[in-house]
Amino acid sequence: NENEYVVYYKDDATAFNGEKKAEISSKGILNNKISTIIFEMLKENNINTHFIKSLSDREMLVKKVEILPLEVIVRNIAAGSICKRVGLEEGVVFDEPIFEISYKNDDYAVAMKLATREELKFLREETLKINELLKAFFLKLNLKLVDFKIEFGKDSEGNIILADEVSPDTCRLWDVNTNEKLDKDRFRKDLGDLVEGYTEVLSRMNNK
Ligand code: UDP
Repeated sequence: NENEYVVYYKDDATAFNGEKKAEISSKGILNNKISTIIFEMLKENNINTHFIKSLSDREMLVKKVEILPLEVIVRNIAAGSICKRVGLEEGVVFDEPIFEISYKNDDYAVAMKLATREELKFLREETLKINELLKAFFLKLNLKLVDFKIEFGKDSEGNIILADEVSPDTCRLWDVNTNEKLDKDRFRKDLGDLVEGYTEVLSRMNNK
């Protein structure tokens, strides 16, 4: 079908703009399953996403979209680059979520032409809704949603919908009681077995 794509979840892990690389056996399977559950939860809450259905352990069927060359980031708790940028200690809780947009394409002018002011307003509102839904969803699993990155795309009718993936590769998730990190920081900072962390996230989702 020319209006659909198959997304295949690989085991590759990269960090620091590709400087650190590894293949982590079964990471793709875990991310596909976790993303599937999240897209289904968002759909139930009236968020439009590219997800159509799960096809296999590593594959999902999605609506074909034109990805907007923007990385949308939401931060509820300080971690990662913002700590360095503004000199904040990791773990500081923000009174309100911080919304950031960065351009995947370095050519700012080109990117600006691809999102109008109206579209950016929609992106912000939709992203903050997604943040509230994800925060509540993870809190029920005893997980804090520290921050995350999402990507949007435009479908054949011009609607802007959530695309890409939502997984521990793209979200920071800390255990509520211990602050144990169960996300990709395990790989970035060598904090422990990544598969163990992602498996814990998935099993909390399945046992909900
Ligand atoms: N993130 C991501 N892909 C990227 C960069 C960041 O998924 O290429 C996610 C990351 O997992 C974290 C959030 O975006 O949940 C914010 O990340 P960070 O502060 O480290 O990165 P930056 O703000 O520099 O992109």
